[in-house]
Amino acid sequence: MTRMLIIGPPGSGKGTQAARISERLDVPAISTGDIFRDNVRRETPLGVQAREFMDAGDFVPDSVTNSMVRDRLANEDVRDGFLLDGYPRTASQVAELDDILSENALELDVVLQLTADDEELVRRLLGRAQLDGRSDDTERVIRHRLGLYHDQTEVVVSRYEERGIVLRVNGLGPIDEITERIMSALKVSS
Ligand code: AMP
Repeated sequence: MTRMLIIGPPGSGKGTQAARISERLDVPAISTGDIFRDNVRRETPLGVQAREFMDAGDFVPDSVTNSMVRDRLANEDVRDGFLLDGYPRTASQVAELDDILSENALELDVVLQLTADDEELVRRLLGRAQLDGRSDDTERVIRHRLGLYHDQTEVVVSRYEERGIVLRVNGLGPIDEITERIMSALKVSS
């Protein structure tokens, strides 16, 4: 089980958990949010395109996001597995990912969904905003991102539920405990 997605609302800790799973399973973690943030920092053309959407808490357009993921998944290092974090986020991105994977004769094994309560997420994200000053962490933008998650990303989980590959894990609690919940859901011993 090494071709995976991790899906969760903003603030659910999916980036933190993705890094840990990637290390334990020895597969690259590919975070579209991290790739965008890196490009914004380096002021690349991709970063310039993405920035205004990210600052507003909106999705970066598919034309930009899909080709970025397509390029990344063409790398040799994903042949033996990968963990995608933050993609797909919409039904149309699910279709795009299906295309990309089938072109490479690859299939998804598992979709991990981290769940958490909205008000707890808002509290966490406001705390994080004070620590590292992400420009998409004001309360208005946070609530907008949560709304997009409910409106557009939960349907992504439904699509994969129809395929019987979703594992749902409670994302509330100490970080180590959540990692263990994930590992036992994946039936990987530490
Ligand atoms: P994240 O770190 O996953 O919360 O992503 C941060 C921001 O990057 C999001 O709020 C979007 O603006 C952008 N982003 C990341 N992944 C995607 C995606 N799959 N589709 C569109 N925009 C994305």
